[in-house]
Amino acid sequence: MRPTGAGARRITPSESVRFREELYEFLRIPSVSARSEFRHEMRRAGAWIVETLQRAGFGAELLDTAGHPLVLGEWRKAGAGAPTLLIYGHYDVQPAEPLELWTSPPFEPVTREGRIYARGAADDKGQIFLHLKALELLLRDQGYLPVNVVVLIEGEEEISSPHLLPFVEASRERLAADAVLISDSAMFAADRPSLLYSLRGIAYFELRVRGARGDLHSGSYGGAVPNAATELARILATLHGTDGRVAIRGFYDGVVQHDATSRRAIQELPFLDEEFMDEAGVRALKGELGFSTLERLWTRPTCEINGILSGYTGEGAKTVLPSHAMAKVSFRLVPEQEPAQIASLFREHVKRVAAPGIEVDVLDLHGGRPWRAHAEGRFFEAARGALEEVFGVEPVLTGDGASIPIVTELERVLGAPAVLMGFALPGANMHAPDEWFPESHIEKGIATLLSFYGRL
Ligand SMILES: [Zn+2]
Repeated sequence: MRPTGAGARRITPSESVRFREELYEFLRIPSVSARSEFRHEMRRAGAWIVETLQRAGFGAELLDTAGHPLVLGEWRKAGAGAPTLLIYGHYDVQPAEPLELWTSPPFEPVTREGRIYARGAADDKGQIFLHLKALELLLRDQGYLPVNVVVLIEGEEEISSPHLLPFVEASRERLAADAVLISDSAMFAADRPSLLYSLRGIAYFELRVRGARGDLHSGSYGGAVPNAATELARILATLHGTDGRVAIRGFYDGVVQHDATSRRAIQELPFLDEEFMDEAGVRALKGELGFSTLERLWTRPTCEINGILSGYTGEGAKTVLPSHAMAKVSFRLVPEQEPAQIASLFREHVKRVAAPGIEVDVLDLHGGRPWRAHAEGRFFEAARGALEEVFGVEPVLTGDGASIPIVTELERVLGAPAVLMGFALPGANMHAPDEWFPESHIEKGIATLLSFYGRL
């Protein structure tokens, strides 16, 4: 039996107006982490969160790093015996360019047809805001929280978090938690809340092929000397079999085939290949045989060629036999795979298939571990129950083909399972022009979090 919440607390009309104004104020701060001219704005956004937390009754500070500051908020009055929840999020946003593709300016939030448009509305300022306000309401209404709460908001997520992990590792004891709660993703659909069940990992490489000392005349040497572009193409063509599987020896070792029940659960989700093809602008889908589109995206590892460079690519014809060729190759990984293990398999494969007479190098660019939820425990159950109560339908467990390496790292360092409860909607234009967040999800998101705490 699932415990029921105390009944979702409603947001009053005056709170609703105030929340909207406060969120707008937060979204107006152009906290673009990638660009140094916004350094001052980054501090301002961090300070805005610190003040908001302090007003809510939290102890909070802005902690300097060698990059952008971190926000650390703490409320520990539930006592030493009570569990601790760590909320993670990020206040930095992606650059807003190209500005001309925005219907309204990215840092002047407006609401049109029920959507709040602004850079960061969905990723992740709008979603952090829900947590800040839920905590504020709980402390105001009842004066206490059922668990100790640590709020950790970084300003470098969009530039791959260079200073977060060193901080977390150095502050392991202070940050000790029983669970990590993250709202930085989307629900499955407008009428279907979801909890994330898995994220794929990544292993990214640059493959370099060298033939002759320099580019050669294709008439004088062609047919007798290895051509770097041809040899690269030959190597790349060996990466997949005709069945769409990755044809590297050992690549699928240990990869677990999902059981019939979980495959059926994915197949029963309302999802149309036709709509997906429309969205992607293709007339046919392609992938590993024997799996549906969502299974391919959520549960199967892949190999993608991200870019190829070689020879003459300018205007007109130049008869040349290229001496160099390069490709960027990445793999999306499932939880039984490790980036380092994939790196050595890929290297062995390339060595085995490369033609004699050419030199081949594989450079490691970056890797991130995959993640799978521990879909159980009081925090997960509270999240599930709260979503069902507020949205009126049981949340579905979904995967995400993308990679958020920090989730795995936080779990590893803190030894606490992560619960990923996103409130944005598909098509929210995260990282793109006209990013938006559903206006109604301010109230629903806060109500869900109130119910979540009520269930703890
Ligand atoms: Zn994000």
